[in-house]
Amino acid sequence: MLDYLSKLNEQQYKAATCVDGPLLILAGAGSGKTGTMTHRIAYMIKEKNINPYNILAVTFTNKAAGEMRGRVEDLCGRYPGMWISTFHSSCLRILRKEADKLGYDKNFVVYDTVDQKAVAKAIIKELELDEKIFAPAYILSVISDNKENQISASDFLIKAGSFGPNKTLASCYTMYEEKLKSNNALDFDDLILKTVELFEKFPDVLSAYQNMFKYIMVDEYQDTNMLQYKLIKLLAGSTKNICVVGDDDQCIYEWRGANIQNILSFEVDFPGAKIIKLEQNYRSTGNIINAAHSVIENNKGRKDKKLWTASDDGEKIEYYRADDDKEEARYIAAKINKLKREDPTLSFKDFAILYRTNVQSRRFEECFGSLGLPYQVLSGLRFYDRKEIKDMLCYMRLILNPKDDISLIRVLNEPKRGIGDKSQQNIQTVARLNGWNLLEALGSDVVLDGLSSRARDEAINLVNTIKSLSVEQNNMSVSDLYDTLLFKTGYMKALEDMHTVEADGRVDNILEFKSVIAEKEKECSEADETLTLESFMEGLALVSDIDNHDPDADSVSLMTLHSAKGLEFKVVFMPGMEMGLFPSYRSMDKGDNLEEERRLCYVGMTRAKERLFLSSAELRMLYGKTDFTSESPFLSEIDKKYLTGHAVYDKKKKNISSDRFNPVSKYNGNDSYVSPIAAAYNAKTRASSIVQKATLAGVEVLPGDKVEHEKFGVGTVIKSEDNVLTVVFDGCGTKNLAKDLAPLKKV
Ligand code: ATP
Ligand code: MG
Repeated sequence: MLDYLSKLNEQQYKAATCVDGPLLILAGAGSGKTGTMTHRIAYMIKEKNINPYNILAVTFTNKAAGEMRGRVEDLCGRYPGMWISTFHSSCLRILRKEADKLGYDKNFVVYDTVDQKAVAKAIIKELELDEKIFAPAYILSVISDNKENQISASDFLIKAGSFGPNKTLASCYTMYEEKLKSNNALDFDDLILKTVELFEKFPDVLSAYQNMFKYIMVDEYQDTNMLQYKLIKLLAGSTKNICVVGDDDQCIYEWRGANIQNILSFEVDFPGAKIIKLEQNYRSTGNIINAAHSVIENNKGRKDKKLWTASDDGEKIEYYRADDDKEEARYIAAKINKLKREDPTLSFKDFAILYRTNVQSRRFEECFGSLGLPYQVLSGLRFYDRKEIKDMLCYMRLILNPKDDISLIRVLNEPKRGIGDKSQQNIQTVARLNGWNLLEALGSDVVLDGLSSRARDEAINLVNTIKSLSVEQNNMSVSDLYDTLLFKTGYMKALEDMHTVEADGRVDNILEFKSVIAEKEKECSEADETLTLESFMEGLALVSDIDNHDPDADSVSLMTLHSAKGLEFKVVFMPGMEMGLFPSYRSMDKGDNLEEERRLCYVGMTRAKERLFLSSAELRMLYGKTDFTSESPFLSEIDKKYLTGHAVYDKKKKNISSDRFNPVSKYNGNDSYVSPIAAAYNAKTRASSIVQKATLAGVEVLPGDKVEHEKFGVGTVIKSEDNVLTVVFDGCGTKNLAKDLAPLKKV
């Protein structure tokens, strides 16, 4: 057996070396599915001489894709640009090449949820809807549901009939689509939807991609929705060399349209499919596997399978019922410290706290923060949701796509430029009447003449800055561009002038964002590539919550059960095992939903390698209300053989004094620990360090003049129009340069 395959067990080996025809690897948690898939890719490249670019491997999170890429590289070397990515990134990549066929500019922008909300709000205002009935989130979820089912706005309009709430929703959907189109924007659902549309409408394009992707692989197949499934089926159309990997017990995205039937009916969709089951779990101890099995076994709609493990039984699973949620957090903090003291090989990053909803993180943040216990939260787009970061992203988007009206509206008066609501409305009206985008309108005399003199100057400056940077974007590094932006827009200075703690915090975030850029630039330069604004923004658009997770930082991971898919930790805590929280209230009235919650419980439990702790709180404060709770029914499903701690259900009153934790006193103070955040604070530089270089702003330059550019050397001007010079450089061809930005001098 080949060396790198020798670690695989017999079934895994079979799966890794079965390359042609449809293959389903159906297996339980921690049985090496993802690992088998990476070995299979290596086998195809090394042994079968398959061109790496003929392979498409898709998964669900950027993190999972990154890990897969890393593991493949370790096994068979690096192939830059290999198609190992998420569904969304693969589609984005395809659309960047083909979007013009669907009537979009290829430089379309991708709207995230915050942008989508802004669009929804604009629609609500225009249609004068009652936001209590038609909340942005509601409108967006209806639109998303329709898109996931490939129902267009016009189809939905027909379905909706001529009156009632659906009629209104259909109008919203129609307007939403118009707004996105006119901003040359796509949302996340569109990425997949438009790719499917592209393939359906243009058979020649489809066949080109079918030819390219001769071998297709999908990890976490149980969570594909109808569109993703369609996409895969279209691509696998001719060769049927498709290998999907999944576990029906881990389908946790039905609420987002994932269809468990996709995995259950694979054999029907791809006749002659081989099925390989992996039954040995390599991740967890016997007790963890058995306990998880005793829970999932209660689901009816599942393929029966049972995992076994060669590992020891290990410790039993511990359950703790705390008095309230505060105490639950303290209990967990104390446990972490105790386990670390007892076993010095454990580091903070071996611990994860997995909860049902994001709001549960707050208690842990408070408690861990006060104890100095290092942690990282993976909830939503925390950092990128901050106002100042959002603003900077909008500026950067405008540079990429000056037509992006939504972004312009957001930063028009950020920092304050004296362009208030009334002026904004005027700009919008002028734009509408003339068929201009907002930036064009803002720079027009009709608008400028109506502004106060200060606002006028500011508006001209804003328009010029965007235009100049748009010209310069490919001549400068992203970090230089970002600095220039901070400087030219006056954003940074406005914050510094405020001299408030809050503004200082914002400055810190803005500077912190520079490290995001620097990090990406470093990665690119190591791969001998240059980071462009476009690729940088693309990377960001696809950051999902899981991607803020830095597995190398030594801190406890706090995340939702959903985000934990595919990951593993030595010690796992699952707090909030309470009726109504987990399973959630919403799931309890529908049997199917309860089964999905149970699968989520199974996913959580099977993340643990060595120790698993479950807990609940008798009193819980949630959404500002404190309530008594009862324990989650999932607790009673765990076979008591594998469980210790407060007995579940049969012991209503426990002896509070006997084993009450006193975590603060037990906590072995870690005074010398300096959090990474504190370290960053100490090292930070201020805005004043941003230095502007000499330019030709205000200098008369004519065709034929010689100029010297800091980077490109000496060249001859062949065109000089307003602020833009076209220069032919001796060494590096023709460039468009902004006079007021490019580091140029006359020679
Ligand atoms: P999940 O269902 O959670 O996605 P999975 O089936 O994809 O899990 P992997 O993440 O590939 O499982 O592997 C789980 C763990 O088992 C990893 O730590 C991996 O290194 C280990 N493992 C897998 N196969 C073997 C093997 N043949 N020998 C030893 N360890 C293995
Ligand atoms: Mg996996």
